[in-house]
Amino acid sequence: MQVFTSVLVFIVFFTVYVVTDLKTYKARKEKNMVSLAKVLATNSSSAIDFDDAETARSILLDLKNGAPDVVHAVTTNGTGNIFASYARDGSLEFTMPPQLQTKTSFFTKDNLFVSQNILLDQTVVGRVMLEIDLSELEGIKKSKFRLAIILLLVAVAFSVIVAYVIQFYISRRLLRLSSTMDQVSRTVDYNKTLTDDGKDEIGTLIRVFNNLMNEIKLHQQRKDEFIGVASHELKTPLTTIKGYLDLLNNIEDKQPNKQFVQKSLSNVNKLESLIKDLLDVSNIQSGHLKLSKQEFNIDVLIDESIAAMQMVSETHDIVREGTLSGALVTADRLRIEQVLTNLLSNAMKYSPGENKVILSSLLENGEVIVRIRDYGMGVPDSERTQIFERFYRTKDMKITITGFGLGLYICRDIIRRHGGKIWIEAEDKGSSFYFSLPLHSN
Ligand code: ADP
Repeated sequence: MQVFTSVLVFIVFFTVYVVTDLKTYKARKEKNMVSLAKVLATNSSSAIDFDDAETARSILLDLKNGAPDVVHAVTTNGTGNIFASYARDGSLEFTMPPQLQTKTSFFTKDNLFVSQNILLDQTVVGRVMLEIDLSELEGIKKSKFRLAIILLLVAVAFSVIVAYVIQFYISRRLLRLSSTMDQVSRTVDYNKTLTDDGKDEIGTLIRVFNNLMNEIKLHQQRKDEFIGVASHELKTPLTTIKGYLDLLNNIEDKQPNKQFVQKSLSNVNKLESLIKDLLDVSNIQSGHLKLSKQEFNIDVLIDESIAAMQMVSETHDIVREGTLSGALVTADRLRIEQVLTNLLSNAMKYSPGENKVILSSLLENGEVIVRIRDYGMGVPDSERTQIFERFYRTKDMKITITGFGLGLYICRDIIRRHGGKIWIEAEDKGSSFYFSLPLHSN
């Protein structure tokens, strides 16, 4: 854009300059030739008066050396007949254009014509007419054109260099800023800041961006602290309520009292699981999520988790495909169970109207890979990384199915801490969530 603008500006300026220059040249030429014709007319007056054609011709002949760009010259007498003539190339056959009878000068494409009356005692006794060659003008035009091309190339080269420098100092920094903003919005990682010492507007913009990131981080910290404190404070009374409800459930036999107690218990359990998740998030954030690792058979854990989930599901069959032949892992058994439970319950929760979830597992490159496949609504491409961020829920999910967007965040942290990976892959219908865990090594 910049190069194009510079070239355009240059062409406009240069055209104006050349047109003005050529006009000036033509005006100067016309003035000089009119003066020359005047001199010739003055010198030829006595030759006409004495009817001395020889002298009139010799006056014109002086043009050969004095004004070499005069191609033809003619002196006519009072009756308009040719009295003397001159041709630069010595030719005898030429005619002056009739316009010269009325005009004192005019231009054609290649020539300038001028004429002047020959006066004797204020009486017109004849006329001098000149035809001037303008090929010099063509030469000037050509040399200006060459100059224009050279200057244009220099201007283009110069503006390319300037554009590159500007691109380096301005666009590059802006691109860096926009790509960081893009990353922040995709990964929801507010720890990203940029270093830039620039004192210009972009430097200011980058500083504002950094301040914004720090502000967001500060608010996140406050929110995390609040979540940590609140869930701690809620945990104690909830445990007491749950204890009393358990007791009531054991001693109460009368209906509908027992049913009320059981409903309350089920809701307290839901509340307890939410508070556990919030506590986990708070511990992950502060780096206090502890793992208590032990060696165990992952096949057994998978079967137990499926059995537990199957007991509470009235809608889905959980099908197990492939076993790990008693493979051992060293991990926090409860936390891995938490991951399995979470992925299985999501698979059922986000596939309403379906009746099957498949859990398959295999051993690959020293790792256990577990896949939980559902036939539900799937996750849009653009949100596949974001669903592992805390409090993230897919956009069209917010109203239809309840949840807090904490489970996958906790699962990712647990799996990462075990040196594994967790990811999602799209299927024709629904999606598959995978996680990997390193096998136990002796
Ligand atoms: P929650 O389920 O409480 O919202 P999660 O962290 O477990 O929290 O899941 C985050 C989001 O990822 C969900 O809100 C949902 O939008 C999406 N999601 C998770 N599992 C599935 C799945 N099996 N199919 C479709 N979407 C899913």
